[in-house]
Amino acid sequence: MAKGTVTFDIETCKGCELCIEACPQESLQLSPKINAQGYHYAVLIKDNCTGCINCALVCPDAVITVYRERKKKDRVPVARITNVKENITVTVSE
Ligand code: SF4
Ligand code: SF4
Repeated sequence: MAKGTVTFDIETCKGCELCIEACPQESLQLSPKINAQGYHYAVLIKDNCTGCINCALVCPDAVITVYRERKKKDRVPVARITNVKENITVTVSE
């Protein structure tokens, strides 16, 4: 199974939990902490992410970048959602 990880732009997260519901690995949760906007933000809580990109695709605020690791310490971005306010651009690479 592919090994992946995700990073969050926590200050733009609104805590809607869509990514948490979309994750088949149950890898995500809202932090007990809040960001500057006053929202509990999503965080990775397990080391079982597969880099499937479901979470990034459902996030309405382009908070999440997904990485897939080919080898240990060789992580590459596979999905980055940009331009949410106008045209959504999804970049997916192998
Ligand atoms: S990339 Fe897939 S497995 Fe990883 S946190 Fe997002 S939804 Fe879960
Ligand atoms: S889907 Fe996006 S905005 Fe909603 S909780 Fe997840 S990271 Fe935050």
